[in-house]
Amino acid sequence: MTDLEQSLAAAATAARPLADLTGPDRAALLDAAADALDAAAADLIPIAADETRLPLPRLTAELARTTFQLRLYGDEVRTGRHLAARDDPADPAWPTGPRPALRRVNVPLGPVVVFAASNFPFAFSVAGTDTAAALAAGCPVLLKTNPGHPRLSQRTADVLTAALDAAGAPHGSFALLHSEADGRAALLDPRVRAGAFTGSLRGGRALFDLAAGRPEPIPFYGELGSLNPTFVTRGAVARRGAAVWTGFADSFTLGGGQFCTKPGLLLVPAEAAAAAAITAHLTGRAATDLLTDRIADGHRGVRHELATHPAVRVLVDGASTGRAAAPTLLGTTLDAVLADPGRLLVECFGPTALLVTYTDDTALPAFARRLEGQLTATVHGEPDEPVAAALLRELTDRAGRIIWNGWPTGVSVTPAMHHGGPYPATTAPLHTSVGPAAITRFLRPVTFQDVPAALLPSPLRRRADPSGVAYATDRTDPPPTGPAHTPHRDTSITSAHTPPAEETAR
Ligand code: NAP
Repeated sequence: MTDLEQSLAAAATAARPLADLTGPDRAALLDAAADALDAAAADLIPIAADETRLPLPRLTAELARTTFQLRLYGDEVRTGRHLAARDDPADPAWPTGPRPALRRVNVPLGPVVVFAASNFPFAFSVAGTDTAAALAAGCPVLLKTNPGHPRLSQRTADVLTAALDAAGAPHGSFALLHSEADGRAALLDPRVRAGAFTGSLRGGRALFDLAAGRPEPIPFYGELGSLNPTFVTRGAVARRGAAVWTGFADSFTLGGGQFCTKPGLLLVPAEAAAAAAITAHLTGRAATDLLTDRIADGHRGVRHELATHPAVRVLVDGASTGRAAAPTLLGTTLDAVLADPGRLLVECFGPTALLVTYTDDTALPAFARRLEGQLTATVHGEPDEPVAAALLRELTDRAGRIIWNGWPTGVSVTPAMHHGGPYPATTAPLHTSVGPAAITRFLRPVTFQDVPAALLPSPLRRRADPSGVAYATDRTDPPPTGPAHTPHRDTSITSAHTPPAEETAR
């Protein structure tokens, strides 16, 4: 039997017992994983630094984000909120006709294949948000490693698997897949019930098509990328232009620009002194080693295409040799972008951005309407400017997160976060890949009609239990004495917890 077949068979066997665990029991597994990863920090972080060349403070903060995330998702299933259970008792006088007793609850989908990202070796990789969400939902995980950090992937998996085993997780709840072929084969296997991915538009689209083309199609949650357009109004320039220009320069170069929320497009009034101020702020910035040769080659290629476009001027010419790339700022006009959106509205993953000047405010909402789906869209403006309100209306149709007078790099792991957006930002615009709401991607609702309480799945059985005994373990409404978790895991702490910008950037 091949390793892949063994992992698939074990995942299929684990699916039922993992699904049958109570929310608190699954939360305990996630806590155990988080504790073990925290304890292994001194082992894991140097491997991550060696393979990714990311700075130690960033990696330290990212591992802390990752273990916080595991515990936060555990807290969500501890409350039972993810079950979204509804009880409609039988009602002979129901307006559409006599109603049977209906009970609705979310159940886990089954084994999930997760394709790890390159740009977050902890938070979106082996023990990252997709793994945490799937395990919290009760779904075994087959994790396709990202070739950008193979040793870290194996070591993280060793720690995670040992912790899950010791905490009593069913055998087969987690396994690694290493090759592209195994990733594809797993996605096509009938035992796999969903896919999750963070990476390129090309890769994500190919895998989405594979998932959709199966005899029995399955959901595929791809997070693919975004231009993250940022609009600066005349009011914002007048009030705080200087801060906007430096804020933009810092945001698009953060982490070498290797975040899917990097603001890649800044729209500014033609008369504003944006180019000079941003150029001055970037002067002397050193080149950053990008994460992988593939990312460095991709950045160089797209940067070249943009920089050699006849309507584009190179404002800051960042050097790019080998894996190293310095910040590049390109400039063009809104008219030029509207004339050639196919070539100018492309994501350049890395420290490159396009400054777009406009002359007529009223053109901005129309331009926003023409944008493809985005993870984020940002407006720097004043509340009383009509153009700001019009932009917000249009951008709400185009993006998953709208930012006012801030920057998109920085994705808080918290219940109200939506990290998603219409295609091509993602392949599933209804869902987020960050925050406890990400768990619902791996659940589906089932309604039980007139099924006796004793035959209901365990969460519903507990709800139907007239004695109320054990009712608290999977209930959907908050338990009377508050969530059964320690204060450091209280979801309210996420708003007070302000990790370093690099940690939360995406
Ligand atoms: P990628 O090329 O899309 O690969 C991501 C993962 O998907 C890898 O494990 C890869 O496996 C797998 N994969 C991709 N295409 C596949 C296919 N057709 N069949 C089977 N497996 C496939 O992303 P990357 O290498 O991490 O980065 C490359 C580019 O992706 C970047 O330059 C950037 O443009 C984009 N990116 C976007 C984000 C984001 O947050 N949206 C994050 C990182 C990167 P193999 O490597 O083994 O083939």
